[in-house]
Amino acid sequence: MHFGILGSGVVGLTTALELQQNYPNAQITILADRFNEDTTSHVAAGIFRPGPSFAGPTAEITQQWIVEAFHYWDDIRRSKEAPLAGVCQLSGYIYSSISPKIVRNHLIEQLLPVYRQATEEELKLCQGDWKFGSFFTTCLTECRLFLPYATKKFIAAGGQVTRQYVSSFSDVAYQNFDVLFNCTGLGAKDLCDDTQVVPIRGQVLKVRAPWIKLAFYGDYDTYILPGFETVTLGGCRQYESYNLNVCKYDSMAIKERCYGMLPSLKRAQVVRECVGLRPYRGVVRVESEIIRLANGRTQKVVHNYGHGGYGVTTAPGTAKYAMKIVRDLLAGNSKL
Ligand SMILES: Cc1cc2nc3c(=O)[nH]c(=O)nc-3n(C[C@H](O)[C@H](O)[C@H](O)COP(=O)(O)OP(=O)(O)OC[C@H]3O[C@@H](n4cnc5c(N)ncnc54)[C@H](O)[C@@H]3O)c2cc1C
Repeated sequence: MHFGILGSGVVGLTTALELQQNYPNAQITILADRFNEDTTSHVAAGIFRPGPSFAGPTAEITQQWIVEAFHYWDDIRRSKEAPLAGVCQLSGYIYSSISPKIVRNHLIEQLLPVYRQATEEELKLCQGDWKFGSFFTTCLTECRLFLPYATKKFIAAGGQVTRQYVSSFSDVAYQNFDVLFNCTGLGAKDLCDDTQVVPIRGQVLKVRAPWIKLAFYGDYDTYILPGFETVTLGGCRQYESYNLNVCKYDSMAIKERCYGMLPSLKRAQVVRECVGLRPYRGVVRVESEIIRLANGRTQKVVHNYGHGGYGVTTAPGTAKYAMKIVRDLLAGNSKL
């Protein structure tokens, strides 16, 4: 069996590792034009926290992806691999002065080890006139560490990695893949001519503030998320923006909102400012398709893209679901 995977972000790599587990004798090749720090995954803070709007094809499948993904990350966190893979535990508060609904999250309230209403005292733990709050304990995966860790693991188990831009599925026809996994994120917009894929631009600052030990979310996309070496300050969500340049006005607004919550951050050194385009799709696409190639032959494809602002959170869940799809596809049970 020969599998190809397009994409080397968190979705491509979790899919590749899952494939190796399920098909230990298969030949597996990752093809991508960007790796590690050049991917969107690298920009993410990596907190496990799906937005309530995150959606797969059904509510049941969405929940299954999230449950499986959480256990995947939490199992790594409990193992000796955790510091190498960049996975840690993180607790924190989500506050709002607007609505109690903002601090609830039906997708994870029953799943996380701790998700509870914040007390009146806890609403005063950082500055702001907070009326509603929740406290939670979750995982954080820093892709700066996870992507190289996963790539190394994939290669050690016999996987191959090639740098290549793929403008159409026909470009890789010569490889004769039995199945090709499409984990191209925003790249799927052009590759599949999928108008439902939309970039949602985000900008963050990575600052050195080792004294910050808790996560804080406030209104208007404000977040303070401590990672392994830096704290991520965010953010913004700009729909259908393709601007990959750092915008100084976004940075100023992020600083003002985060400093407003935790004034000690004014003393933090800014290490990096980064921009990423979240690959948003109303319904994340994990399904099979038979594609007719330019040479007249067909290619079995399993799509796995469109995770928006929650790809680190959910990638292992959609990767496991992609295994079910490929099994059905190879057994001839797929609904195509
Ligand atoms: C500011 C910001 C903060 C975020 N914070 C979080 C967070 O805290 N938690 C969370 O869960 N998510 C977060 N996200 C979202 C997360 O980063 C994305 O959902 C995730 O990275 C998507 O992963 P991906 O593998 O699909 O895409 P990518 O990481 O973009 O990888 C796509 C891969 O496909 C390859 N590719 C694409 N097109 C082609 C082509 N035509 N030919 C060859 N290769 C191709 C690329 O080279 C790349 O290797 C954040 C995003 C941003 C921007």
